[in-house]
Amino acid sequence: MATHKLLLLPGDGIGPEVMREVEKIVGWFARNGVGFETEADLVGGAAYDAHGVSISEAAMARAQEADAVLFGAVGGPKWDGVPYAVRPEAGLLRLRKDLGLFANLRPAICYPALADASSLKREVVEGLDIMIVRELTGGVYFGEPKEIVTLEDGSQRAVDTQLYTTGEIERIARVAFDLAGKRRNKVSSAEKSNVMKTGVLWRQIVTRIHREEFPATQLEHVLADNCAMQLVRNPKQFDVIVTDNLFGDILSDIAAMLTGSLGMLPSASLGAVDPKTGSRKALYEPVHGSAPDIAGKGLANPIAMIGSFGMALRYSFGLIEAADMLDRAIANVLASGTRTRDIAAPGANAVGTQEIGDAIVKEL
Ligand code: ATP
Ligand code: MG
Repeated sequence: MATHKLLLLPGDGIGPEVMREVEKIVGWFARNGVGFETEADLVGGAAYDAHGVSISEAAMARAQEADAVLFGAVGGPKWDGVPYAVRPEAGLLRLRKDLGLFANLRPAICYPALADASSLKREVVEGLDIMIVRELTGGVYFGEPKEIVTLEDGSQRAVDTQLYTTGEIERIARVAFDLAGKRRNKVSSAEKSNVMKTGVLWRQIVTRIHREEFPATQLEHVLADNCAMQLVRNPKQFDVIVTDNLFGDILSDIAAMLTGSLGMLPSASLGAVDPKTGSRKALYEPVHGSAPDIAGKGLANPIAMIGSFGMALRYSFGLIEAADMLDRAIANVLASGTRTRDIAAPGANAVGTQEIGDAIVKEL
């Protein structure tokens, strides 16, 4: 049997609290025939306190060895004054860069039990299940030149460069089509080809990859501004949305608010497939941050973290049945009314972090 190597990086704030609940789930699977080889290490402020860095070389080496990295959250006011190069967030950026994690997958799922927590009307979001695939290592975040220049008259000029290459667009398009094939088989590609050359190239290449490699999948091109509007008007028309780094940042935050709480949203970041092994580097993390305001109080909702482990089951380990089972367990716990404070109905009783983990294990 293939071993499943899992590296846990709980990090700071509520990170360790929500990771403990994942460990309960991992324990349940181990007792029921799906074993994991699990290691843990420090990242973020915790790594800075112990080693003076945001992630140690030993932890980086473990991340390179792992089949999947589970990442909690980093940062908090305690480390506001630490030098920029070793700030807690630098640990995550280093992981993304060194593991080559170019594809960020953010599902937005609206559980029927939580449809009233959405920013939109129940009928617009109930049963929503879409996936945003954001390109994570290119585009305007990294293109050069990127600078603020002072001109002769003392005024300034700022430049950011939106830059994409054929290869970068091909590989993110393949991730999106591949995913769609396992879902409802529809890809919506969002760009601004009406005003941007990168958008023109994006559309050309997505069209070619579709024609040559995924002709059975439905493809539509949508301008990014229209996509934002459609996400709020009728989000259920989408299955997989593929887009660049900047538009993906914005569109995935819009999609997040369709589903209710930050504490519900998992994510995955995937690297390239190794042609020799067929496997790929991957990191799974909740969308939320370290939530210093509730850290240490046992109030954090662990479902985003547990759902991130579910994505690891699905996308790194190919354990589709286990992933489906975990998703059903989460849905059933929510349907039973067991909720943390962030998703409880006004005035309703809320439970703590550990009770949610226990309830999901019981449901499994
Ligand atoms: P970051 O910059 O790391 O993304 P942030 O400033 O965006 O962090 P979060 O740490 O995600 O913010 O927290 C935003 C708000 O959401 C806080 O009030 C926090 O308590 C709440 N929150 C975040 N995650 C959870 C969770 N898992 N359960 C309950 N509440 C949460
Ligand atoms: Mg944030």
